[in-house]
Amino acid sequence: MPTRACEGVAGEFGVYVHIPFCTHRCDYCAFATWTGRSALVEPYVAACITEICRAQAVGPWRPATSVYVGGGTPSLLPPALLTRLLDAIERAPGAEVTVEANPETTTGEFLRAARAAGVTRISLGVQSLVTRVLADLGRRHSPGSVARAVGLVGEAGFATYSVDVVYGSVAENDDDLAATLDGLLALDPAPPHVSAYALTVEPGTPLARDPARHPDDDTEADRYELVDEMLGTAGLDWYEISNWARPGHECRHNLACWRGADYLGFGCAAHSHLAGHRFANVASPERYIDRVRDGVPAVAMSERLDPAARELESLQLALRTRDGVPAAALPDSGELAGLVARRAGRAVLTRRGRLLANEVAIRLQPPPGTAGGPGGGASGRACAHAAGG
Ligand code: SF4
Repeated sequence: MPTRACEGVAGEFGVYVHIPFCTHRCDYCAFATWTGRSALVEPYVAACITEICRAQAVGPWRPATSVYVGGGTPSLLPPALLTRLLDAIERAPGAEVTVEANPETTTGEFLRAARAAGVTRISLGVQSLVTRVLADLGRRHSPGSVARAVGLVGEAGFATYSVDVVYGSVAENDDDLAATLDGLLALDPAPPHVSAYALTVEPGTPLARDPARHPDDDTEADRYELVDEMLGTAGLDWYEISNWARPGHECRHNLACWRGADYLGFGCAAHSHLAGHRFANVASPERYIDRVRDGVPAVAMSERLDPAARELESLQLALRTRDGVPAAALPDSGELAGLVARRAGRAVLTRRGRLLANEVAIRLQPPPGTAGGPGGGASGRACAHAAGG
């Protein structure tokens, strides 16, 4: 029986480090990342190390059971800098350590250094293997660079890795997506983990300013079914709405976050969660470096969830996973027919339910005896305090 989502799993503690540098900005990207800041890379990583050391000295801290270095483009880091950064993070034995990389910037030297520094998992931003689709997304890499990077991942000795796919571009048809998935599954070594995301229009992006390129919801739903069908047939089962893996290759860091475990984020715009207290750092790398240098907390946003809000949020996260939620958390009504499967006291989204997960989520009710449920703790809404970013 899965642990109640908001409790996390005993002992799990994640560390996230944000690397906010890219060589160019993709048309759909709204992440906290910057181009033309290469002079900041070294002082930025030094600031991250300082913040990590402070957290380890004054707490709260536990040896990390998972580390995730994301971005941005972490594979832009000089290998020695990545090693310094990872060496600073106290880890539990057997910790999972993931580093994100882009195909065009991944080198054998970077991967060998990453492996030597304890990285166990590489996450490659592939998005598509069709040149026309990559161009529409504003990506700069070629399909050929993906096979090259994957070959390097294998040569460096990584036992597992993941690829990211983005579907729904107007330049893509069903055959293009099928060709991308077929091409990925034929790679050597083949990816045991795939994250596939529907293209979304984020305000302020070049994509948002070009309505002719906005994806169509129905088309994206069809594409999701194609992804789920092809990956499932290949032995990669869904374990979260946007994630598929062979058994044993699930991302432990993300699983822990979805179970409500504690994690600390370092770097600009990095988010943290400690027992219902969520906070996030200032958004820009310059302000982050200044704050850390001046010994001032880098936090720009902080909110505390009361027990009821925390329970509801944990259910919303759990609903997205294949463990689902306690069956009593969803009404047994006809309107959820075909969207939810009930077994062994759990309610789990069907494929169709995954496409309508938000519709299902608004019907969640904390079960009796839990915070927010009948006989449970206090109810109320989350209180949010946001300072300047
Ligand atoms: S590489 Fe990733 S983080 Fe960088 S701009 Fe493109 S989508 Fe955004």
